[in-house]
Amino acid sequence: MSSFISKILIKTVTAGLLTTALLSSCSKNNDDKADYIFLFIGDGMGSQNVALTESYLSYKAGKIGGEQLCFTTFPCYGMADTYSANFAITCSAASGTAIATGSKTLNRNIGVDAEGNPVKSIAYELQEDDYNIGIISSVPLNHATPAAFYTNAGKRYKYYEIMKSLPQSGFKFFAGSGFIKYFGKDNKEQSSAEYLRENGYNVCFSEEEFEKADKDGKIILCQPYNKESEPANYDVGGPQPEGHITLSRMVENALELFSDKKPFFIMCEGGEIDWAAHSNKVMPTVKSVIAFDDAIRVAYEFYKKHPDNTLIVVTSDHETGGASLGTGTGHRESIGWAYLDSVYTANNSTNRLTDEENRELNWKANIGWTSEDHTGGAVPVYAIGKGAERFCGRMDNTEIKAKILAEEPCK
Ligand SMILES: [Zn+2]
Repeated sequence: MSSFISKILIKTVTAGLLTTALLSSCSKNNDDKADYIFLFIGDGMGSQNVALTESYLSYKAGKIGGEQLCFTTFPCYGMADTYSANFAITCSAASGTAIATGSKTLNRNIGVDAEGNPVKSIAYELQEDDYNIGIISSVPLNHATPAAFYTNAGKRYKYYEIMKSLPQSGFKFFAGSGFIKYFGKDNKEQSSAEYLRENGYNVCFSEEEFEKADKDGKIILCQPYNKESEPANYDVGGPQPEGHITLSRMVENALELFSDKKPFFIMCEGGEIDWAAHSNKVMPTVKSVIAFDDAIRVAYEFYKKHPDNTLIVVTSDHETGGASLGTGTGHRESIGWAYLDSVYTANNSTNRLTDEENRELNWKANIGWTSEDHTGGAVPVYAIGKGAERFCGRMDNTEIKAKILAEEPCK
């Protein structure tokens, strides 16, 4: 066969494959999707926050570099754009909506597209395919990221309305720090727990209560210290209140509830990474990335038992803080981890430092921060398991949903 003819044949075959791919776009019930799906979202966890954490882990191991988090060892790696429909720098509501539903929207919009029309999250689509659904976060469950997976409330600060929209989801399991209801003109007359119980959920405020709960029912697990009050400010990386349920325990509880008898989708957010990075605090950022990684390790252990049917995707909604390993001028070539670690240990938590003390600490440790808010770059995506190869290379955050579902993005 001449090389010319073989080239034509290759072109014809390729065109045929492309046509097939286009025809099958947006197809439902795709058999290529995994039975057990984990989506981990590190809120505010840009590449540099991951780099900070791995640099710290290397220091702890007595090395210059090379120590890795569990999720950065995953074989497939890509980058996802994060910009929203109206700004170069997204907020968590717009990016959460993009990841959950595949639609870009305006900053502060949640569960609706840029025109305000409700959009459907991946969790609802998978529930229709008989998947158990679990929504987990280290921060309040009516915060933007977890809410993007169950609400169409429209605006992220409608906290009470978002909470009230939770029961309509019918999702089997929620776990988080609790529910915020301040802000705006929300009706505050009924407590969140009361409302959610009246609407079909068993609301547990400890792991003991969770153990005793009817496992055939729908469960919401909240931190015990938020039983009488709504979730207040946080103290990342410091000593946790009594009975604190770690993010990894929340994932373990979800797996105990779901087992491997039925397909499931678990979205798990490391929410306080963003809060720590907003305040430019290195050790709380590092500690919250490690806590997030601990939760991913639980999924990774599950994956090792079910490697052919499990997909784990780890990404972020945007970067926060614009951190860098190294700052200023003068060829400062090492990072002051020993210094940071000692100040952190002495204070029990760097959260107790004033802003000025914290700026000085960062400078001395040679760690830069360029923003006290979000930054606009692409974020990393890591994947392992069935279909993980779809997450290699550059993508938009609106493509993540279709990639998990093994569909072509709906254009
Ligand atoms: Zn965010």
